[in-house]
Amino acid sequence: MSVDCAMLRGFAPQHDCFVGIDSDGCVFDTMAVKQREHFHPLIIKHWHLERCADALIACADFSNLISCYRGSNRFPALLRTFTWFRNYPGVAESGVELPKLDALRAYVQSGLTLGNPSLRTEVERTGDPELRRLLEWSLEVSASIDGNMRPVPPFPEAVATMEQMRGTADLMVVSQTPEAALRREWKLHRIDGLVEIICGQEAGTKAEMLAAAAGGKYASGKVLMVGDAQGDLRSAREAGALFFPITPGDENNAWRRLREEGFPRLMNGTFAGDYETELEREFLGTLPSIPPWEE
Ligand SMILES: [Mg+2]
Repeated sequence: MSVDCAMLRGFAPQHDCFVGIDSDGCVFDTMAVKQREHFHPLIIKHWHLERCADALIACADFSNLISCYRGSNRFPALLRTFTWFRNYPGVAESGVELPKLDALRAYVQSGLTLGNPSLRTEVERTGDPELRRLLEWSLEVSASIDGNMRPVPPFPEAVATMEQMRGTADLMVVSQTPEAALRREWKLHRIDGLVEIICGQEAGTKAEMLAAAAGGKYASGKVLMVGDAQGDLRSAREAGALFFPITPGDENNAWRRLREEGFPRLMNGTFAGDYETELEREFLGTLPSIPPWEE
């Protein structure tokens, strides 16, 4: 049985600080591996973009890894990727057939819960060949990640920082990955013992998990969320927690900074206020919304 919010509400604090930690792209460098070894090759294959593979990869990397859209659902991420791809230098002249956007855009804007089950229903309802291609791609991506993804070790500084924090703070994994996959991954790399709780998508949103596990149990300014995406920042705000960013592309330095600077401030009550505002400003500044080739 997976951890749910009722169990989280029953969690009794062991220390006077709480740190919620995102897993994917924060403790593990899995986002780049998923993109480069599973998403990208299958986009290129299903839309026949071999001739412009480098352009596609640049657009997909920007959409999924290094922009403010990092961590988005795969369908709006693909729509952004294709929108940029169409205007990427050299693509129009290459003669490659440009991906059609209408069916994908209509699905992304449909208000449905975006995922393989609702997409399959839409394919059956409309018979649209572009949606069918999208579904075939998405199912193959999921199967490829589930069946073939190689283990990716945690960032060394993430482990060192969690080892230091665990003596004085309650640590919990706060993730939207299925809990069974999280447990497998944390156990495989022998870091499951560093945290009190491992909590995945079954328990609800990240904000709900944080509120259930820590809400009302710690003094003001003693609950922190650590994450790598703007969604993590929003979840922290929603749950009334502080936020420490693990900067994409500079993860080890960010974890070291948490250990040497952020966590001591959490302990001594000087995290909230100017320090947190400056961290947020830096973090948002590292995640652009416009790709460099369009500026
Ligand atoms: Mg993440």
